Amino acid sequence: MESSSFVLFGATGDLAKRKIYPALYNLFKDGKLSGPLSVIGLGRRELSNETFQHQVLDSLRTFSRRPVEDSAELQNFLLAFEYSVLDVGRPEDYVKLLGHVQRREEELGLPQNRMFYLSVGPEFFGEIARNINASGLGDTKGWKRLIIEKPFGRDLQSARVLNDSLNAAFKEEEIFRIDHFLGKPMVQNLEVLKYSNPVLRALWQNRYIESVQITASETVGVEERAGYYDKAGALRDMFQNHMLQLLMMMAMQLPKGSTPEDVRSKKRHVIRSVRPLLREEVTQHVVRGQYAAGELRGQQVPAYTAEPGIEASSQNETYIAAKLWIDDPLWKDVPFYIRTGKRMKEKSTRIVIEFKEPFNDLHNKNRSKLALDPNLLVIDIGPNEGISLTLNTKNPRQHGQLEPVSIKHESGNPDLPEAYENLIYDALLGDATFFAHWDEVELSWQWVQPIIEATAEGTLPLHLYPAGTFGPRAADELLGEHHWWLDEPE
Ligand code: NAD
Repeated sequence: MESSSFVLFGATGDLAKRKIYPALYNLFKDGKLSGPLSVIGLGRRELSNETFQHQVLDSLRTFSRRPVEDSAELQNFLLAFEYSVLDVGRPEDYVKLLGHVQRREEELGLPQNRMFYLSVGPEFFGEIARNINASGLGDTKGWKRLIIEKPFGRDLQSARVLNDSLNAAFKEEEIFRIDHFLGKPMVQNLEVLKYSNPVLRALWQNRYIESVQITASETVGVEERAGYYDKAGALRDMFQNHMLQLLMMMAMQLPKGSTPEDVRSKKRHVIRSVRPLLREEVTQHVVRGQYAAGELRGQQVPAYTAEPGIEASSQNETYIAAKLWIDDPLWKDVPFYIRTGKRMKEKSTRIVIEFKEPFNDLHNKNRSKLALDPNLLVIDIGPNEGISLTLNTKNPRQHGQLEPVSIKHESGNPDLPEAYENLIYDALLGDATFFAHWDEVELSWQWVQPIIEATAEGTLPLHLYPAGTFGPRAADELLGEHHWWLDEPE
């Protein structure tokens, strides 16, 4: 990897502390940051380099997955961090920043490769990109890249405006849109699972698959993010980005020896093939929910509308479920059920693939038909990673009745790289495989737009569900003849 300057907007923010500094530290410990390291943190407050380095150290001590011990190596790492004051709206601050970046490039003998990481609100993205160009920060002899965080717009229109403002200064191949679900090791493993296992490769299609379920359930409520969440809701916070990205990753079919461009082109094909939602059909395909008071792990928890910072009359959704179809010969007639919510019974992100039962003509000695459980392939993405396959076997103790057994692999390795490590490393390498391309973002907004409109009109009902459950009953009815797998009885 060529070395570069890492310029971090929002260096005093929550994300920088919890994710970005620990990720850089763990990459450094893994020897993945080649050459000298230069990180320039930016914020509005005046801070000395020493105070900033102290803040970085605090964040490592609190959030790094690896222990942080005093050593010359740690000191070296911290000395790579310097600080500059910058208000995003002040062009003169960017000119000063350019001087700082150039000074460090000279001191450390760095090539003019510049990574700009925007860990600030999206309302600043356009202005920052413009100022990077206008100040000369973007005129480099090496590469320049931009990493940006979600949310990428509030709807189709605002996402397009935001993207145009970025494109005025950066080319699409220079923009790395983080969707941290794509950085999770098991999501990055999906392709290998599908293509290195002939058994799975052969079965990955509508001939054998009955349905696909993708769930991301959280037990936490709105936490301290009331201001943001009450405007975003589960649709914008989780569904439009993470859930649809998981759908693309699950359903795409890659050619052998695929390149990052193949991945993007196949993901684009999937999201483009998802059958559009007709406005008049939104209620048949989508369920919105909001948590009411309930019991979670033996504790009473308040309703969403009783949370600090949330209006008692809020109609925001904390849960969303949808039924989708992919209009592609490979996935014809296979329903994809997707749901995500807060204050649910368990914290889990998983994909469950239910296989068809085309050969069910097994009978017992009395010639009555034996009940078969469907084969299930369960891919646990988090918090515990694992894969399991449920098969039917004969139980010799119970007159040869069939019973399901599960073959399970749990990764059981708590020291896996975090999503942000994988993603920052890839961005530094210039590998965009696990980032969201604009086409994917735009097509995802396009798909959810009728839901946004139906919600705004008040035609899509909001179903309450008690905290500590798996969501509203309407989401069970959404599945018709199917049901959500692995929901433990409430
Ligand atoms: P934060 O409010 O904790 O930090 C924001 C940072 O922006 C601070 O460093 C602040 O000084 C800086 N800032 C604000 N106004 C500025 C200005 N005018 N000029 C210069 N700097 C300014 O926010 P955060 O939680 O760190 O989130 C940063 C970004 O990451 C946001 O886009 C957020 O949506 C996204 N994000 C955050 C999380 C998370 O877990 N915190 C998760 C996903 C995405």
